[in-house]
Amino acid sequence: MRARIALAGLAVLALTAAGCGAGGDESSIVGKESLVIGVKPDQPGLGLKKRDGVYEGFDVDVAKAIVDHLKGAGQLPQDVTVRFMDAPSSEREKLLQSRKVDFIVASYSITPERKTKVAFAGPYYVAHQDILVRQNQTGIRNVRDLAGRRLCAVDGSNSDDRVQKERGIPITPVQSASYSECIEKLKNNEVDAVSTDDLILAGFAAQPDNRNLRVVNARFTDERYGVGIHKTDIEGCEAINKAITTLYQNGTIPKLLNKWFGGTGLNLQDATSVPQFEGCD
Ligand code: GLU
Repeated sequence: MRARIALAGLAVLALTAAGCGAGGDESSIVGKESLVIGVKPDQPGLGLKKRDGVYEGFDVDVAKAIVDHLKGAGQLPQDVTVRFMDAPSSEREKLLQSRKVDFIVASYSITPERKTKVAFAGPYYVAHQDILVRQNQTGIRNVRDLAGRRLCAVDGSNSDDRVQKERGIPITPVQSASYSECIEKLKNNEVDAVSTDDLILAGFAAQPDNRNLRVVNARFTDERYGVGIHKTDIEGCEAINKAITTLYQNGTIPKLLNKWFGGTGLNLQDATSVPQFEGCD
């Protein structure tokens, strides 16, 4: 009998040590004392790692606002520590599945294929795919004009598939690791166009040394930007959905969009009401 009680005591201890005790489920971000958040390091206006190592941009501010809301709702400790890390397009699912990050806010479109691997809160914004060309490139006016052109294709991103697979437009893909690499290739005449989300393109086009680039302004998709989270963390996903609702109701998201993209000529009118949520499972 005594041995059994001792064993039961050990089991309780083991569970508590693993974080599964009264404090909640260890597999959720809710209640965690430290968080790692994945963002883009090289997309100006969205997620950019500055020379001093500090990240800035719309996605970074959305992530911070979510954390603040969760703190206010008692779902994160007041002294929670937050660290940002790079989440390139090709690594996002892996980073979540291996729990190297707690959640991701990185121009991350919700897609049925990705939903088999990770869960998404949100969307917190609906972007639209558009096209970026060199100023003097007048032959590309819409997505069909990309036929036969060299188009930048970023590993792990869905943008080239939207053109090639979904619309059947034959392009010559030029594989690249990131959109910042695509911009260099566009400037060096190694590709004819970069096609991805208007927010990403507007952020690059607004840079002083990219004055020779131009957004075509021919949107052709809806890109529902989700907060990626581990597939089993339904509690965390639902908590983030509540945060996003509040961030629309109190005007934070429109304010942040205006802060980062107000001067870029992008139409931000649609972003005043909370988008239709995806659902966490
Ligand atoms: N939103 C698109 C995607 O998630 C393109 C941008 C990106 O790769 O970050 O694939």
